Amino acid sequence: MSRIDFFALGLLIAARAGFAQEVNHAAASSPDAGTVVVRAQWLIDGTADKPRHNLEIVIRGNRILDVRPSNSQALPAAAQVIDLGAATVLPGLIDTHTHIFLQGEDPAAGGYDVQLLKYPASYRAVRAAVSARRALEQGFTSIRDVETEGAGYGDVGIKRAINEGIIPGPRMWVSTLSISSTGGYPLEGYAPEITVPKGSQLIDGPVEARKAAREQLDKGADWIKVYMTHRSWLDAQGALVSQPTLTVEELKAIVDETHGWGRKVACHAYNGAGLQRALDGGCDSIEHGLEITDAQITQMLKQGTWYVPTLQVYYTDWDPADTEAGKRDRKRVALHGVSFSKALRAGVKMAFGTDVGGFKWSEPIAEEFAREVEFGMTPMQAIQSATSRAAELLGQRGEIGVVAPGAYADLIAVASDPLADVGVLKTVQFVMKDGVVFKPHASELAPHP
Ligand SMILES: [Zn+2]
Repeated sequence: MSRIDFFALGLLIAARAGFAQEVNHAAASSPDAGTVVVRAQWLIDGTADKPRHNLEIVIRGNRILDVRPSNSQALPAAAQVIDLGAATVLPGLIDTHTHIFLQGEDPAAGGYDVQLLKYPASYRAVRAAVSARRALEQGFTSIRDVETEGAGYGDVGIKRAINEGIIPGPRMWVSTLSISSTGGYPLEGYAPEITVPKGSQLIDGPVEARKAAREQLDKGADWIKVYMTHRSWLDAQGALVSQPTLTVEELKAIVDETHGWGRKVACHAYNGAGLQRALDGGCDSIEHGLEITDAQITQMLKQGTWYVPTLQVYYTDWDPADTEAGKRDRKRVALHGVSFSKALRAGVKMAFGTDVGGFKWSEPIAEEFAREVEFGMTPMQAIQSATSRAAELLGQRGEIGVVAPGAYADLIAVASDPLADVGVLKTVQFVMKDGVVFKPHASELAPHP
């Protein structure tokens, strides 16, 4: 047995060099080889109400074999032990609303439009690969990426490259082009004589809607992403108004087609008529949901609709307070927090999502946890929204988002108790995906004395 100690996950990290290679070599020679044991004083397993104490997680290949009290059984001679000391271990986190093909563009540097007008597809793909790596570095071992913003089917290729081990990154559920209606997505504001690319596939009528869904599903979409609202502004009374896009008939065609493939539909919807159409058309998840009425909450409960709020992104990049856009920005967050709290109290199914890419990937994705807690989740509920609940949204219950026998060996660790301060999830210090340690990297580990 060789042993790796991550002392409190602080600066002092010691390990036997060549860890990854040893595991691989051993795998070829003995039935117990490839067994890795992760020990932790604290485990938040993704489903239990309370943390569990002094456990070891036994991993064979890319799956968790057993979770049991530390030192309760003799370990196979070939097992590798990773002792995480006083750290808290959790399942790999799941962000169910990301955009790897966006980079939090600075409006002054060309903003969204420059991506579609000036950047080669290869350049965007390379940056998307870096974004995927950032997700993994931050402890997000799974993401649902909700459209490529004009980068075509690039997400299908990134996902494949990750799955084949060509580049590091999280497990991905991808949604390719997305669907909106004419007048329902940028690029906008150019001379009417000029044809500019659009960041979404624009359709009109149920026939085109179904055809777009078929094309996207055929070419690799795991989810279909639909925009049910587009522009938003404040009316004369100061109420938030959002322009609806697809009709109920158009959405129903998409949902019917997508469900026929055994896949699901995520609907961007802020409020008003567009959100109502999203619910009436049978959306599986409402994205953002800035203003949800009591009647709509009742409808979500009845239909089993998921809510992916993405709170934090609406706190970034506000226009000045005395401008129309600035007033709208402030109104949005005021409504959003209320909707979140109401939905939570009512028992609506909620999953963690951030819209990262809408802000830079170098910023902490986990900032969202503090907003969830601010509007009423307990820290444990917030963690479960990004673990077992998010897994349920993805149809992956028991596979990801949980530390339990049979699940994929996707684990993270933080140095202190995230139930005391969810902010520690912004500094994840250990990441394992598919049974392989990604962080700290082998080259960062000093030989054991
Ligand atoms: Zn988004």
